[in-house]
Amino acid sequence: MNLNLYGHDGAWLMVDCGITFERDSTRIRPRVQTPDPQFIAERKDALAGIVLTHAHEDHIGAIPLLWERFPVPVYTTPFTAEVLRRKAAGRGGKIPSPIIECIPGEEQTIGPFNVRWLPITHSTPDTCALHIRCAAGSLLHTADWKIDEMPQVGPGFNSDWFAAAGASELDAVVCDSTNAVVPGHSISESTVRDGLLKAVAACEGRVVVACFASNIARIHSLIDVASNTGRYLGLLGRSLQTMHSAAVSVGLLERSQRLIETGHLGYLPRDEVLIVATGSQGEHGAALQRLAAGTHHQLELEPGDTVILSSRVIPGNEESVERLLKRFRDQGISIIDGESAVQPVHASGHPCQEELASMYQWSRPRLAVPVHGEQRHMKANAQIARENGAQMALTGENGDLFYLAPEPGLRRKVAMVGRLEQDEEGRLLAISPS
Ligand SMILES: [Zn+2]
Ligand SMILES: [Zn+2]
Repeated sequence: MNLNLYGHDGAWLMVDCGITFERDSTRIRPRVQTPDPQFIAERKDALAGIVLTHAHEDHIGAIPLLWERFPVPVYTTPFTAEVLRRKAAGRGGKIPSPIIECIPGEEQTIGPFNVRWLPITHSTPDTCALHIRCAAGSLLHTADWKIDEMPQVGPGFNSDWFAAAGASELDAVVCDSTNAVVPGHSISESTVRDGLLKAVAACEGRVVVACFASNIARIHSLIDVASNTGRYLGLLGRSLQTMHSAAVSVGLLERSQRLIETGHLGYLPRDEVLIVATGSQGEHGAALQRLAAGTHHQLELEPGDTVILSSRVIPGNEESVERLLKRFRDQGISIIDGESAVQPVHASGHPCQEELASMYQWSRPRLAVPVHGEQRHMKANAQIARENGAQMALTGENGDLFYLAPEPGLRRKVAMVGRLEQDEEGRLLAISPS
């Protein structure tokens, strides 16, 4: 659940405001958690704006729940804006107003900050890194990213944006650490498309592909796979339909002739059916779990059908996924996952070590601040930053405050990593070293 605050001259800029799911084996549904917004809620008059980098839940999910406590303009790209509006409406949460839509490449002045939206590739479209400047200095906030030259939806990765930011002398890069312990380079969505095409072409019965609803490129690839294998595509699961229609409404996807009403799926010959389903983590009540239990009202799978897992298992969900797969196997339904697939059927949306090294070489920051990962991921990211020219790298914990600029005093100030301390009126006093 990401929430970043950048402060300068008495003003704050919020970047992302997401949720996470607390897993508890005694509960059927996981509990939603948000960041603790008290610090900024108490000084909401000083909050100049909220910038959302992309449409994933861990970056936008808390907005409908928390926005009323700091009701300022929200700036984001058109797809993320559309997803946010639909999610807020679906959950009975608050739709922020105004939502200011920003086109990649554009700049906005938000309080004392100048923010430039830099297009970057990730596992959901319209993701942007941010080049944030103020009188004290400038930084690059990468958001979640990978280098994908052929992302299937949206433009390919273009390093020029980051080299240009680097040429302006960045004080800091705040960077995704998710895959910093993974050597090499992430797989392109175009490779996944080829892998899915081969896998589906080899199947004889119905094929169900489980993937994350926000991965519009994967849906695009599966529409393509359906055309190439003489199948029709059905989207099972409300979040898939929401994401698909959000992508169509902002022009990222075309409405395909191959896409059919899910009510028709049960009437087609089995070898003409391709289904995308939600519930790859074994979630209670999701389409995949109902298919496994034989309780889906529109479709029943049979022996000889295939389920392809085009997703990863999020740590903590191993048991529920294993239970789900066992139910399919017990019914004679084949499973293809990352291990059994001949070619990749899933790709991560986060940068591996080679990609991180390239990003530091282009952006050449003095200071790296690894975020978005556990300690070991952030430490690995910090190491890569130092090996690629950063003079300093800071890893912290939730609630930590770092001084990024200006020099001199950078080293002394940034070394103070700790908790925020406030006086009785809620003014920021100091940070206590942890
Ligand atoms: Zn994320
Ligand atoms: Zn993400």
